[in-house]
Amino acid sequence: MAMEDDMFRNLKEKPVTIQFPYEHVEPVEGVRAKVSWDIDKCIGCRLCVTICPGNAIQLVGRGRQAEIKYNVGRCILCGECVDVCPTKAIYATKEFEIVFNNRRGMITHFRRKKRKRTS
Ligand code: SF4
Ligand code: SF4
Repeated sequence: MAMEDDMFRNLKEKPVTIQFPYEHVEPVEGVRAKVSWDIDKCIGCRLCVTICPGNAIQLVGRGRQAEIKYNVGRCILCGECVDVCPTKAIYATKEFEIVFNNRRGMITHFRRKKRKRTS
């Protein structure tokens, strides 16, 4: 009887699935989604590279000149890099709809702004 009750109740309710990518759901409060970098705060300490369990972070260059390549396809959204970064250069976003057409699109290169030469 309980199963029939469930069936009739479900027939009256709207479907819980959505027509992605035409429809979207709001992220829940406190969601751990894609991470991002404020690259100018990075000092190139490599702690994020070392702690990342998915091997999703690559450091390009050294020290305060270092840049980051982030492969979201390898990221398990654990937030360990956010917690370990001593300069708060890494932050969690609410971007959880992670869709790509190809592997190259999964990689974001966080570059430093080019400084103008003064002579
Ligand atoms: S959130 Fe976790 S898996 Fe993703 S880049 Fe940071 S440490 Fe790596
Ligand atoms: S932990 Fe922070 S400061 Fe260190 S390399 Fe990663 S982003 Fe840069």
